[in-house]
Amino acid sequence: MTKPTPAKVSMEKIVSLCRRRGFIFPSSEIYGGLSSCWDYGPLGVELKRNIKQAWWQAIVQERDDIVGLDSSILMHPRVWEASGHLEGFADPLAECKSCHQRWRTDELEGDSCPACGGELTEPRLFNLMFKTFMGPIEDEANVVYLRPETAQGIFVNFSNVLDTTRKKLPIGIAQIGKSFRNEITTGNFIFRSREFEQMELEFFVKPGTDEDWFNYWLEERRNWYIKLGIKKENLRLRQHMKHELAHYALDCYDIEYQFPMGWAELEGIANRADFDLSQHAKYSGKSLAYYDEDTKEQIVPYVIEPSAGIDRTFLALLCDAYDEELDKDEIRVLLHLHPKLAPIKIAILPLSRRENLAQAARGIYADLRQCWAVSYDDAQSIGRRYRRQDEIGTPFCVTVDFESLKDKQVTIRERDTMNQIRVPIKELKTTLAAKLSGEDLFVLPPGGKIWKVERE
Ligand code: ATP
Repeated sequence: MTKPTPAKVSMEKIVSLCRRRGFIFPSSEIYGGLSSCWDYGPLGVELKRNIKQAWWQAIVQERDDIVGLDSSILMHPRVWEASGHLEGFADPLAECKSCHQRWRTDELEGDSCPACGGELTEPRLFNLMFKTFMGPIEDEANVVYLRPETAQGIFVNFSNVLDTTRKKLPIGIAQIGKSFRNEITTGNFIFRSREFEQMELEFFVKPGTDEDWFNYWLEERRNWYIKLGIKKENLRLRQHMKHELAHYALDCYDIEYQFPMGWAELEGIANRADFDLSQHAKYSGKSLAYYDEDTKEQIVPYVIEPSAGIDRTFLALLCDAYDEELDKDEIRVLLHLHPKLAPIKIAILPLSRRENLAQAARGIYADLRQCWAVSYDDAQSIGRRYRRQDEIGTPFCVTVDFESLKDKQVTIRERDTMNQIRVPIKELKTTLAAKLSGEDLFVLPPGGKIWKVERE
């Protein structure tokens, strides 16, 4: 019999794993799905929460100079006039005269329809904001928009935050939330959709210090992905060309990831100068200046904006973590997810369903789940159960066997190395806590892989 060959990651493999194991489902699937909308299933929601938590921890929890915010999705329509979105947040759209497919012309290589080669209409600008109405009357006076980014909620709350926290520059305001864009072309699974989530930081600084802060955030943000286990060689920083820059932006870089379909943006980091605060001051008539106690002058802060997408980070993490290896003539699929991100941290696996064993295993399960996301699995062979956990990235399995009833010890099995150690049940929690925090890792076999490889 020929041995199967482990394959490389591909988008099809990720989509299929996500569907099969309950990470992501098509939205409204029983009605045939809704184009480019996705639902995060039981494992997906855990991974997504862990990504947000990791960002919040690095950006807000561990810093003195950044605070959080959760502003509303619907905002005063004037916000979008001030921000320039009403006028300028548009992509050029053209329709094929033969097959009637629509295209974003700035993304096309030639000037004919990529589907049938037909002639395209003259491009016209198509605004990407979703419109709806506030209240029962559907007229122009009641139009509101679903926000296309979370950033504007931060700018309009700049004074509120400063006044109530009594913070001095530099100060950042961070927010995580849904954004909506009526994209002309969507695709590549969750990479580009019309409803997505962003993690945005607006970091306000004194003019003149902006370049240093800009460089600081480029480095910080790139390191964040690396610390979460993304391979360094799959990340790159790409500076925007002059023609890509918004007219007010002084500089902008994208952090790009090498997805199976090629390099694409994960996060944008821009030096937006004083554009946003100045515009909102102008349109609202309220001063958004900052009194600089050192120079005794009123200044309008500059802002550095690292703006990341959760769904794209999710996809990048899965692509990067996906692995297949040959194990005893079978393909072992595994996700080398950082324990901090893994949807399930520990699986409790009793060797049999016998009552006395189940009782001991259930006791351990009840104890551990007070601290972590833990699952309990007693169906099928132990080998099958290990595989199921490997495939969803569970870093540790705890096996309870008949010996455990006598010696009060259990086996911890590690996902990446498949190493096993025996530990006393009363030390299980502290041992797992150390392993999950990365302080105490198994010794690697030669060539073994583990999530904590320093990627210098
Ligand atoms: P793109 O050029 O890919 O359309 P963008 O430059 O318009 O993206 P930004 O406005 O900089 O994107 O938004 C910041 C981040 O929000 C992006 O880096 C991305 O991670 C996320 N994002 C933007 N649009 C979408 C979308 N349609 N679907 C999923 N994530 C998105």
